Amino acid sequence: MTNSKYDLVVIGTGVAASHAASECSSAGWKVAIIDYRPFGGTCALRGCDPKKVLVSAEEAVDWNYRMQGKGVSSKDIRINWSDLAQFKRSFTDPLPEAREEGFLKDGITPFHGRAHFIAPTTIKVQDNVLTSKYVLIATGAKPAKLNMPGEEHIVISDQFLELDKIPPRILFIGGGYISFEFAHMAAHAGAAEVSIVHRGIRPLENFDFDLVKKLMQRTEDLGINIRLQTQVNKVEQNPSDNNNSFLIYTSSSSSSSSNQDNTGYQADMVVHGAGRVPDVSELDLETAGVQFGPKGVIVNEYLQSVSNPTVYAAGDAAASGNPPLTPSAEHEGNIAASNLLNGNHKISDTKGAIPSIVFTVPPMAAVGLQEEIAKKQGLQFRTNYEADTSSWYSSRRVGENFSAFKVLIEKSSNRILGAHIVGPQAEEQINIFAFAIQRGISSEDLKEIIFAYPTGSSDISSML
Ligand SMILES: Cc1cc2nc3c(=O)[nH]c(=O)nc-3n(C[C@H](O)[C@H](O)[C@H](O)COP(=O)(O)OP(=O)(O)OC[C@H]3O[C@@H](n4cnc5c(N)ncnc54)[C@H](O)[C@@H]3O)c2cc1C
Repeated sequence: MTNSKYDLVVIGTGVAASHAASECSSAGWKVAIIDYRPFGGTCALRGCDPKKVLVSAEEAVDWNYRMQGKGVSSKDIRINWSDLAQFKRSFTDPLPEAREEGFLKDGITPFHGRAHFIAPTTIKVQDNVLTSKYVLIATGAKPAKLNMPGEEHIVISDQFLELDKIPPRILFIGGGYISFEFAHMAAHAGAAEVSIVHRGIRPLENFDFDLVKKLMQRTEDLGINIRLQTQVNKVEQNPSDNNNSFLIYTSSSSSSSSNQDNTGYQADMVVHGAGRVPDVSELDLETAGVQFGPKGVIVNEYLQSVSNPTVYAAGDAAASGNPPLTPSAEHEGNIAASNLLNGNHKISDTKGAIPSIVFTVPPMAAVGLQEEIAKKQGLQFRTNYEADTSSWYSSRRVGENFSAFKVLIEKSSNRILGAHIVGPQAEEQINIFAFAIQRGISSEDLKEIIFAYPTGSSDISSML
């Protein structure tokens, strides 16, 4: 058993944790950092980055299909998943060691193992007891428990991203962004039967429903079956296939249906895409007097625990009100570090404008308010909505038949309230809107900005 004293102990090594640890260490604080998994966190090892490497191959294949008869004629472009998996590992494999070396170079002491509180500012990890002036909880999120029979047969996103080959029949539980992204990937990689089963009436509920409908058409065009208002109740091994595949029992979740159990599907793999929850349940937060709820550690505007002032939280583990995404985690890691070092003074002021993207082909992106929410808030706004922009030059040029946008502009001030785009350039266009909303640039002023032509950004003035 070793006992050591720190100024700050950081739990987690993802984006939120790493930024905060480095800032406090470079200010001269004695800092320790802990993770029970390889160092680097979700985004770099099991989320955004490896995922988008896989998306790159999917984009190449899809673009090739779209350009058939438009100057491209090599029909036989296919994804070689095992090559792609190896390429993806060239990004993820070196990272944990590099991250740990970086911590050591910055003077941060790394610990491997699962951390938990044994007193308000004392953490235990393996045989080490770390006493600290402050603790930063940056433990991220984990898949929500599904609490259904056969849950042990369901794989999570980490395992999907590690696949060396794509099974022929895959069923995704839940209609969130992870399911849509992975379903598109699987279909492009040649999976014969891909299904998304979603309990609610509306998948991708953080995105504009008119645009979601557009993306659903594109998804169905790829041969992906989307079943809404359907609850997965049980997954079991299929005895008539030597237990090599699964039977998935579903029932209707619409109030008008009889809700009978039926063997809805057979699949070779069932993937959990039904939401993630803050990973705080094993930290023994009660011992530290740290209040938490379903959205994570309950914090004030400075990201400080409301019940234990020596504890701060950032990223997916904090109930901060920001979306559980990498830009929020980075932003919050910086805010927490600044408040730890200089006393509480800095608050999150994103103006509700952290952009989010579904990395399907084409991508769908959103920033700011959804139309229904703006209406509920009583805002007076105009809606610039084009349900089909596939005839626009930027969609036609790349053979994309599914594109649309919706922009909400406050009538009295010309303030941009929200922007929603599906289409080939959506992932970059949305950043321009995020910039405008965060910096308070009006629709009139944005319309006057001169962008390079022909680019995704040069479409923006036509959306305002
Ligand atoms: C499949 C997938 C795709 C995603 N795609 C995107 C995307 O495209 N864009 C985007 O913005 N966001 C995306 N996200 C979300 C994004 O990855 C997270 O919001 C972000 O990584 C959160 O960072 P964090 O620092 O809060 O926590 P994390 O990066 O999750 O780090 C938390 C770390 O804490 C460790 N930990 C947990 N408990 C303990 C403990 N008790 N002791 C020690 N260590 C502990 C964990 O092992 C983990 O390494 C994706 C997520 C997933 C799962």
